[in-house]
Amino acid sequence: MAGGLASTLDDDAPLEERKEGVKKLTSLVGGALNGLMEQRERKAQREQERAKNANIEEADDKPQCECGLTFSRIPRNANRISCPECGREYEVN
Ligand SMILES: [Zn+2]
Repeated sequence: MAGGLASTLDDDAPLEERKEGVKKLTSLVGGALNGLMEQRERKAQREQERAKNANIEEADDKPQCECGLTFSRIPRNANRISCPECGREYEVN
């Protein structure tokens, strides 16, 4: 198999051998892609399962704007933030 792959890149290799090498290369790449797709599918499935079985609670450890937006991140040095949603400004204590 290594010989086949090497001859793919070798201009002096007989045409048939090179074709064979290309086929192997293609199936290698295809196999890797398939594996990746399967992995993604499984991950999506697991995440869906989790969503079905999970109970979520609203997190209330983060400040909320009057418009309902949650400030999930506040820059370290900011002493004032404005709501990206409605523009209200708040002082950060
Ligand atoms: Zn707001």
